[in-house]
Amino acid sequence: MTGRSFLMPNYAPPPVTFVRGEGSRLWDVDGKEYLDFLGGLAVTSLGHSHPAVAAAVAEQARTLLHVCNLFGTTVGPEVAETLDRLIGGPAGQIFFCNSGAEANECAIKLARKWGGGAGRGPKGHTRHGVVSTYGSFHGRTLAALAATGQPTKHEPFQPLPEGFRHVALGDVEAMDAAVDPSVVGAVLLEPIQGEGGVNVPPKGWFAEVRRICDERDVLLVLDEVQTGLGRTGAWFGFQHEGIQPDVVTMAKALGNGMPIGACWARADVASAFVPGDHGTTFGGQPLAAAAARATLAVMEAEDVPARARRAGARLAEGLAELPGVTSVRGRGLLLAAELDGRPSKDVNAAALARGLVVNAVTPTAIRLAPSLLVADAELDQALAILDAVLSC
Ligand code: PLP
Repeated sequence: MTGRSFLMPNYAPPPVTFVRGEGSRLWDVDGKEYLDFLGGLAVTSLGHSHPAVAAAVAEQARTLLHVCNLFGTTVGPEVAETLDRLIGGPAGQIFFCNSGAEANECAIKLARKWGGGAGRGPKGHTRHGVVSTYGSFHGRTLAALAATGQPTKHEPFQPLPEGFRHVALGDVEAMDAAVDPSVVGAVLLEPIQGEGGVNVPPKGWFAEVRRICDERDVLLVLDEVQTGLGRTGAWFGFQHEGIQPDVVTMAKALGNGMPIGACWARADVASAFVPGDHGTTFGGQPLAAAAARATLAVMEAEDVPARARRAGARLAEGLAELPGVTSVRGRGLLLAAELDGRPSKDVNAAALARGLVVNAVTPTAIRLAPSLLVADAELDQALAILDAVLSC
């Protein structure tokens, strides 16, 4: 070893290097044990190295790892059928990819094709515009970055693809003004802004946005990359809102750590794509799809939305009672605790030193997104560590 890093400097130097995980526990290179209340940023929803997922991956690796998309496979279509059932509503179709950003890229391309096709756009317009919210996060690829409502993340990478506009979260009037049906084809929203700080939009806002989209024949795309698959106490975050989206994107928890993303669309919207419009080498390949199939099977057997509701209520209640916590927000097991003036990065570092992994999601709030199978004793242990940190 030369001592220099062979990795690009796009991430801050890691405070800890992990080598093993099991359930809600992680171990670092020195053998120190941690309680993981971040779950790889809402990815390992069944905990680390879940035996059913590990067995499915090993079995699939021995059977068939990869086939290119010139041919069919059996696992991906099964996963697509399960996801379509869990999303509910009108029949839909799925495109598989490898990440959340790619799922959103698919949604944006699909919305552009749909908006420009079937005579929907006035002459000369393609209705390629996308409206999203300030504070949102939709990924790091160029179009997903353009949709991300954080101008400081845009600046170093200008010019970004054009056609993206942003409105304040929860502002009905601003949405009404931004959704100009002569140029806008889609509204892209997170049910809860995850990276932006676990911000829950006001009650009834999604219904208003749905109404605006319906009136103008504009697609409502929900980015469920962080909120999807049980995390908020429903299979998908939009199911708390009494609305039906036209397009849903997901990734993170879908493979419980195996990279897989998906973009679901109502079948008539999906039909805007024809062969050759979109693709990816690895998306939907058998190995990742086998992980997703096993993950979804365990999720359904364990009724993870119910577990997230129950454990989330216990965790939120415990957090609210801690010294220095002024409020708790979020849903299910996607929570943020707002701190009373104490920098969240200091609390984060002190928690890590005591063996608890959380995340400083804003300068004043810590985020918790543990496994949806987290045990009560683990919730109590995490709360005790935070109590000790915040009492110092
Ligand atoms: N959308 C949301 C809501 C996210 O939280 C994230 C990642 O944090 C993404 C998209 C991007 O996902 P990925 O990092 O897998 O590209």
